[in-house]
Amino acid sequence: MGERDDHRFATRAVSWGEDPASSDVGDVVSPIHLTSTYAVPGIDSEFKLDEADPEEGEFLYGRLSNPTRHAAEKRLAALEGGAHGLAFASGTAAISTLFFATVTPGDHIVAFDDLYAGTRRMLESLFRDRLGVDVSFVDATDAGNVADAMRPETKLVYMETPTNPLLRLCDLDAIADIAHAGDALLGVDNTFLSPFLQNPLELGADVVAHSTTKYLNGHSDSIGGALVLDDDDLAAECYHLQRVLLGNAMAPFDAYLTLRGSKTLPMRMRQHEANASEIATFLEGHPLVETVHYPGLESHPQHELAKQQMAGYGGVLSFELEGDMDDAAAFLEALSTFTLAVSLGGVESLVELPAGMTHEPIPKAEREELGITDTLVRMSVGVEAVDDLLADLERGFAAMRRFSEQQPPAED
Ligand SMILES: *Cc1c(COP(=O)(O)O)cnc(C)c1O
Repeated sequence: MGERDDHRFATRAVSWGEDPASSDVGDVVSPIHLTSTYAVPGIDSEFKLDEADPEEGEFLYGRLSNPTRHAAEKRLAALEGGAHGLAFASGTAAISTLFFATVTPGDHIVAFDDLYAGTRRMLESLFRDRLGVDVSFVDATDAGNVADAMRPETKLVYMETPTNPLLRLCDLDAIADIAHAGDALLGVDNTFLSPFLQNPLELGADVVAHSTTKYLNGHSDSIGGALVLDDDDLAAECYHLQRVLLGNAMAPFDAYLTLRGSKTLPMRMRQHEANASEIATFLEGHPLVETVHYPGLESHPQHELAKQQMAGYGGVLSFELEGDMDDAAAFLEALSTFTLAVSLGGVESLVELPAGMTHEPIPKAEREELGITDTLVRMSVGVEAVDDLLADLERGFAAMRRFSEQQPPAED
């Protein structure tokens, strides 16, 4: 798609996919089309249900085509630099569609062992246990482990980088080569960095998945997902699943919100990153913090890889506090600028305790093996004034100190 080079990223983010000339009155902002069905020219109209092509102005039924959704899909494709974009009802819907499009019973998937918990659960309880698709979870921080897990029946290698909540990275360029040498496709969940900071297609991936719920929409007021890819046949298969077999496309109002939110993606990402970097440095120097996980820190074990494959380090970080889960609770409960909540990628700062919230269903021993200790705190740093965020963290540390002074000294 030569078009992708025509405009720089920030220009595409503002207006790509929205075309005033396509509206009777010249709407600069694409209207929200809420209709579920479209008046057709006659009973013998040329196009049939499954084949109606919105590019040809063929609109038949809202599940199949919707102009607001297609505007969002064009925007998402342009931002990731792919020929085809598809918008879904959630990131989970996008990811499951990618799996349905690429594997059938008897096939094999190699996946990062540190995937988004919902994706891991989908692979285990739906694809492996019910649909007979074998899945190997490997520590992909070492690309050699991916190579070792490849089998003749491996059809898909599925990665995330950085991962949640420990911000581990994998080398997409190397893993793309490994996947392609085995005739498998590489799919990458790029939710954590957004296309502004990382472009997996350029690094060799075949398909990029997003939860647009996070940075792409960016305002914590919509659930959505996306796939972006170049291959025409695979895209046709994904469209067929989305529109006909699964019916899991993004709703028009969410498409509007995603179009609106994505306009400011570059500015938001720069501010998320500036704030997160400052907070990471502050935390690294704090006596009540044991470790900070942020790819922008020189202490991150894969900082060099981060510099190579990412255009920035993003707005998510995690750190371990001194003490136990009660100390962590005292810290979290004292925060007020940070909101205690799961999710990430919105303009407001959020904080959560994986061991007690997102990763609580994983047995403690397994959690600890993954590196998710009881005092690991994950934050999605927002775009507020960073001094207010730092002052909030000071309140958290002060509450921890007060809490530990109230505790009777440990007997030993
Ligand atoms: C949130 C998230 C998902 C799931 O997206 P939903 O929109 O909640 O369905 C998948 N991958 C990553 C990395 C996420 O953060």
